[in-house]
Amino acid sequence: MRREDPTPPMSAHPLLEVRNLNLDFGSPRGRVHALRNVSLDVPTGQIVGIVGESGSGKSTLAYTVMGLLPENAQVTAGSIVFERRDLLTLTAQARRSLMGDRLSMIFQDPMTALNPVRTIESQMIDIQHHEQRGRSEKRARAIDMLKRVGIPDPQSRIGNYPHQFSGGMRQRICIAMALLVRPSLLIADEPTTALDATLEVQIIHLLKDLQREIGCSILFVSHHLGVVAELCDRVAVMYAGEVVEQGAVRDIFHTPGHPYTRALLECDPGRIKQRTRNLPTIPGEVPSMLGSKKGCIFHPRCPHAFDRCVYETPGEYRVAADQVARCHLLDRAGMVAT
Ligand code: SF4
Repeated sequence: MRREDPTPPMSAHPLLEVRNLNLDFGSPRGRVHALRNVSLDVPTGQIVGIVGESGSGKSTLAYTVMGLLPENAQVTAGSIVFERRDLLTLTAQARRSLMGDRLSMIFQDPMTALNPVRTIESQMIDIQHHEQRGRSEKRARAIDMLKRVGIPDPQSRIGNYPHQFSGGMRQRICIAMALLVRPSLLIADEPTTALDATLEVQIIHLLKDLQREIGCSILFVSHHLGVVAELCDRVAVMYAGEVVEQGAVRDIFHTPGHPYTRALLECDPGRIKQRTRNLPTIPGEVPSMLGSKKGCIFHPRCPHAFDRCVYETPGEYRVAADQVARCHLLDRAGMVAT
């Protein structure tokens, strides 16, 4: 039986270290460079948000960490070190044994995550397959977790099928299943996108409470900046497959160092004070990720672009003690390269 200690071990090493990760998808038109030189840490016991427009690579990064990639995907460089083991060098069997145990995931659409022809009870018991407990004890744990995520009358509802619950209730069940195994890292891929605003707030508070109780880390993918500000300790901003800025949430939201981060924040409906019929947008589109790119990936849309941005890829500069960004303007401003 595993020890149930809600306090995560203190460690000098982050729980998850992604380093210089490059990932391509093969396509009939050529190789799509979906992740480029991505480096990111998830410290023990912290919640790290990944934000960016659609097509920025946030979900691809989450699925790469989980090892849930289609056959045409190929990691071409880098490492994903989780609990001091590089996931990319593990055998398929060793990696599978981490899933649903040390690593767990909540998907965007709870209906596709749950098996529609099996009861919640059988799915919640199956997910505890790593545990050396009897069926009745596993059932009792499942009922307790359903109660904690706010499913009314869990004793009888546990025998229901997924279609007998509303969308919000299904997502609560998915959270219950993901946390039932007490993972050290939970990956949540836009778990509130399919929910209305009220349910979204409830789910975010629930996730935060359970994360504190279990002591796990969370990698939280979202395009909703308000949710990330509310939930996360740290944030990484992705654009066209690259992490362009990362650091403590308070620093990035108050003093963003990268023009793309500033543009994203200016377009956040939650920050717009004046009444308007037209929400601001970032002019232009996320570029195609086919083929190699020269210069700063954001330069075709950046209002501050200058000559150097077109031919030289920016390095990473320290904006604050716990904030780095990739932009030539930071070099001009005398910031230190990392
Ligand atoms: Fe804009 Fe140049 Fe900075 Fe890229 S490097 S964000 S193009 S100023």
